[in-house]
Amino acid sequence: MKDREPKLLVCARADAPWVVAGSTFDRECGVCRRAVMVAPSGQEYLEREPLAAIVCAQCVVDAIVSKKRKVEVKPAASGERLQRELAAVQPNLWGERN
Ligand SMILES: [Zn+2]
Repeated sequence: MKDREPKLLVCARADAPWVVAGSTFDRECGVCRRAVMVAPSGQEYLEREPLAAIVCAQCVVDAIVSKKRKVEVKPAASGERLQRELAAVQPNLWGERN
């Protein structure tokens, strides 16, 4: 276990067209400051790693494309868990609540 490794949680932006059931919308991307959604698996990850940096998927893609930083993306939960969450995606009504 390398405890000093920076922890990173990649989240979809809150305005993504889909949402995982049970996601929260009270976090923001540490890079672009846009609101992100945190799926239940991500919420559990943040309970274990409260200091993890939250970055939206778009900023991760931008960073990889620009090669400004080396980004290691590790899933926050097991593949099986993520598959169950992705099977439960719903249309995202977050934007319409504004
Ligand atoms: Zn971002």
